[in-house]
Amino acid sequence: MAKLTIRDLPAEKISGKRALVRVDFNVPLDEHRHVTDDTRIRAALPTLDYLLERGARVVLLSHLGRPKGKPEQKYSLEPVSRRLSQLMPSRKVLFVESTDTDDAMKATNQLKDGEVLLLENTRFLGGEETNDERLARALAELGDFYVNDAFGSAHRAHASTEGVARHLKPAVAGLLMEKELAYLHGALETPKKPFVAILGGSKISGKIDVIEALLPKVDALLVGGAMACTFYKAMGLETGKSLVEPERVEMAEELIEKAGTILILPHDAVVAPSIEAGGKAKTVGRENIPADMAMLDIGPRTAESYSRAILSAKTVLWNGPMGVFETPPFDKGTRAIADAMAEATSKGATTIVGGGDSAAAVEQAGLASKMSHVSTGGGASLEFLEGKTLPGVAILDEK
Ligand code: ADP
Ligand code: MG
Repeated sequence: MAKLTIRDLPAEKISGKRALVRVDFNVPLDEHRHVTDDTRIRAALPTLDYLLERGARVVLLSHLGRPKGKPEQKYSLEPVSRRLSQLMPSRKVLFVESTDTDDAMKATNQLKDGEVLLLENTRFLGGEETNDERLARALAELGDFYVNDAFGSAHRAHASTEGVARHLKPAVAGLLMEKELAYLHGALETPKKPFVAILGGSKISGKIDVIEALLPKVDALLVGGAMACTFYKAMGLETGKSLVEPERVEMAEELIEKAGTILILPHDAVVAPSIEAGGKAKTVGRENIPADMAMLDIGPRTAESYSRAILSAKTVLWNGPMGVFETPPFDKGTRAIADAMAEATSKGATTIVGGGDSAAAVEQAGLASKMSHVSTGGGASLEFLEGKTLPGVAILDEK
């Protein structure tokens, strides 16, 4: 099931050709429309450099935010084009504001070898999210081959991520896409053992399929976050004011039964009357959660035993923070996991972080570079871990 990548293309298929590259430049902007975090732009640079060094003319497609199929100034990619040209000082970076595909076509034909052209937000186009056939065909005219480097958008069958690749061949993966697939696929299919997964976050409901998919593959599945409280409820424990999903309790009970000793729940909890009342936080055993308090982080004993499990593993996969990491003191459990993963990496383990908030927590701790891989795709990485087919990947050419 391996996909062709740009590295499989012979030089003559790249040089002088228009490479139509779908990237994920869905970056945060401030009120002055300045890019506040350019991680996603920088993540695409290896692919762009690879193509440009080989004489391609690079045409970029991306979405930004959620405009409703028509132009909206605040979602223009123009600020992104400015940031991109700063990041590629030796390259000419052009931007086409028009959303008329004829104008875009003209611009791609005027492009010279080694130049970059960013087109306007794909979600300004009516047929993008409905994967309109006519739009897909029009987009396919904008390049001589197609590259998908937007892993974060690959779980959506949109015209720029899926439809276009039906009509423009070869359709191959970029280097970021290749890296994402290699790590996630490797963890699921050929993990070095022991393989430990850590799952957390706010809701069990969004992650049940991930738990089901991981259980047969992992040696231990460590649970944290509010998710743990739904399991506590299933065990008949008092959960106080913790975030519990009552309609998932039965399912949690089934999972506990099915998983046996593989599923591990926190032994202790950091509780407080509310997120705002951090000053009143205290640690309790899981059977002693007060009725008027909520579990907002895993406790120190749990953090320690989870860290030990991580350090004994050869493959570690983490999705979902252990607590309300945005608000100290409830960030400690998440931080402990990030530290243990960084240490495991330095001892030779393969460590993978998936999920938007978990990735943000690792960035915030300054530990992103200490992980083997931090996925750029929140929703896409979750769907991948659930074992779902990502339409933007499935449509790419096979090796
Ligand atoms: P990811 O984006 O990494 O997949 P999620 O979106 O599932 O993670 O969950 C992240 C959110 O979960 C964070 O905003 C965090 O504050 C929240 N959270 C974690 N633990 C708890 C808890 N015990 N109570 C309430 N919210 C929690
Ligand atoms: Mg999230």
